This record gives sequence, structure tokens and C-alpha cells, in this order.
Amino acid sequence: MKLSQTEKEILKIIDGIEIIDCHEHLSPEEDRTSKNLDVFTLFSHYTKGDILRSGMKEEDYNCLFNKESPVEIRWKKFSPFWKNIRYTSYCRAVLIALEKFYGFDDITEENCGLISQRIKEFNKPGIYKKILRDTCNIRTCLTQCGRTDTGTELLTPVMPMLYSLEKKEDLLHPVFEPDASIKTLDDYMEAMERYVVRVKKEGAVGLKMVSLPYSQTNRNEAESIFQKISSGKMEISVKKCPFFSSPSPLHSYLIDYGINLAGKYDMVVAVHTGYWGDFRDLHPLHIIPLLIKYPDVRFDVYHLGYPWVRETLMLGKGFSNVWLNFCWTHIISQRFAMDAVDEAIDLVPVNKILAFGGDYLHTALEKVYGHLTMAKEDIARVLAKRMEDGRLKEEQAEYIIKRWFRDNPVELYNLKLK
Ligand SMILES: [Zn+2]
Repeated sequence: MKLSQTEKEILKIIDGIEIIDCHEHLSPEEDRTSKNLDVFTLFSHYTKGDILRSGMKEEDYNCLFNKESPVEIRWKKFSPFWKNIRYTSYCRAVLIALEKFYGFDDITEENCGLISQRIKEFNKPGIYKKILRDTCNIRTCLTQCGRTDTGTELLTPVMPMLYSLEKKEDLLHPVFEPDASIKTLDDYMEAMERYVVRVKKEGAVGLKMVSLPYSQTNRNEAESIFQKISSGKMEISVKKCPFFSSPSPLHSYLIDYGINLAGKYDMVVAVHTGYWGDFRDLHPLHIIPLLIKYPDVRFDVYHLGYPWVRETLMLGKGFSNVWLNFCWTHIISQRFAMDAVDEAIDLVPVNKILAFGGDYLHTALEKVYGHLTMAKEDIARVLAKRMEDGRLKEEQAEYIIKRWFRDNPVELYNLKLK
């Protein structure tokens, strides 16, 4: 990537900052190192979407991970799709990671075997430290992997606010406390409170929800649905895609209660907004009634609600309890992320922005580095332009960088860094 002198200077400043990675789905390291991986691990997670959209059938995508077939044969089938997708931001993260960790600037039928060999050799205990700490200078990742026993200070847990509410078993034996004795909605809410207290004690710093069209809370309706589901008279079926269901009055009631608990126990509410599946259901403005109702609860709003970027920026502009988290954005599109960074400086106080979150699963671990490199580029470009225009001094750029990459998440999540 060609960078101007000022952009290079800014990048040097960012490289010197210890980073808080504000959103991942990384689970404990042994989940990764126990796997037999090859070159196709670089095409796990988000790139799957690009591959399917370019025309590959889902069953053919799944065959890419079938180790019984030689990697060269699988690559041959995949290469036409690689030609189609290689220019997306998702794939730029692949190429950056490939070069950094495995020493190639492209993948071909000739080198895919050797790359696979290098991936296997690198996939040993210690790989999290090598990539996250030694290469990315990440102090900790706020990770959502459904558990708190991450086994390392590199992974700080954020837990789901709410679990499935579809079937009798979901209500009477919720996964967060299967042995609870639950008969009524109040019993369920008491179990929820015990869950929040427990995960906080185990190190969780936030509770995650999604921006769905929640209804106003109605205790009677919530109770009636609870009784129907828990007695087996009713099941709520979930739409297959996306996996987020439209919220029932019970769902709306319990999300409201979950936000209440987050406030009571001083935890951040992390909110997925926009892009995923049928993203119409995930419009960022759905959460406004909750922002107004809970002015003292801190909301970390993810992904800039893509494609409703301006609407989401306005949440940061208009509500004191909103922080804007650029997790996932730089690999959705660097163009949009740069525009949004620039516009956010115009709109939002510098203490309300979180610059980076890789948003990857352990199979895509290397791409955290790719994504971080892209985030650094985006921010360096925007700040350098402002410096070249005479609107920003170097020490001011340095201040913004330190706030966005480190100090803001440390303060928002009250992280106790040893
Ligand atoms: Zn995520």
C-alpha cells in the first residue's frame, strides 16, 4: 500500500500504541490448536459470504474443508471463486495475513500445499500470544465466545444478555443455569440476575444484545407467553436466516430487564446493529427507546449499523450514553470506514469512539492482524489528510489515536489491566 510521508508518520504513532481489540469471537486457544488446518482456514468465517455470493454452492464450500481430498485438488475447484472475491475488503485481510505469517503474496495451485504446511507448523500452543500480543500489540480482546473461562488475560469475556426463549426447555432449563428450578417468569428473571452476577464475578465486562424492533414492555403479555411456552402449549419458531428471531413480547420484556441488570451491576451493553442476514430487522434506530429509557446505562454500539451509517453516527451525536465501536467496519469496506472515521471526528467527541475490533472466530485468527492493519491505514489516512490541510497538529493526532485505540475502551469497560 502506497502511503504519503504524513500517513507513514501517523502509522508509526499507531504502531507504538498498545491496542484494546474491542470485539472478537475468539475462544480459548486449544480450540484452535487442536484443529488440523490448511490454507482454507484463511477462507473461514466472513469470506464464506463472499464465496457463496460469487456463486459457489454451500455444499461445495463445505467440501473445501474436507481433508480427505488433496489440498491442490480442492484449490483447483476454488480458484475461479478466488478470482471473483479477491478484491473485497474481507479478502484484503486474507492477503495481508498471508504475507505476514506465511510469506506469500498470493495463493496458487503451486503454493497452496506449502502454505498449508506452514499453517500447520504455526498452529501450536502460543499462537495467540504470537499473533495478538507480539505481532498486533493487543493488550486484550473483548471476546464473545459464550464462556468466561478463557484462560488468558488476552481474552476478556463479553457474554450474551439473553438466551433462546423458543421452547419449554429454554425457559425451564436455560443454558446459563440448566439446574435452576424455574416455574414462573419471576423465577426466570431471578436466574438471569444470578447469571449476570456470576459472569461479572468471572471477569465478564459486558452483555451483548442485538438491535431488533422490540415492543414496549408489557408484563401481562410477557407472562402469558412465558406460561404458554413453559407448559409446552406453544413454541416460537425462529426464522432460519438470520438466526435472530423477531422479538416476542417475552423477548422484549426480558431484554429490557437485561439492560436493567447491566445498569445495576455496572456492565456495558454491547449492541449489534445492521448487517447480517435479513438486516432490515437490525436497524440501529430500533434501540432509541432503550437509550432514552436507560440514560445511565452505557451502550457500546457495534458496526456503525452498516448500511445505516449516518443513522448510527447520529446515535453517537445525540445520546450521551452511546459509544461508537468501529469493530468489523474496516473489513466491510475500507472506503466506508474512512468516510465514517472522518465524519465521526466532525460529529462526535473523541472520547466516544472505539477504533478497532477484529470480530473473528479462532479459525480466522491470522486475519485479526490483517484487519488491524486495515484499521490503522484507514485512521492514518484520515488523520494525515487533516494534518496536511492544517486542521490537526501531530500531537493532537497522537491524542486521538491513543484515546480511540486504547484509553476509551479501557475507561468504557473499566478494564483492570495488570
Ligand atoms: Zn461479532
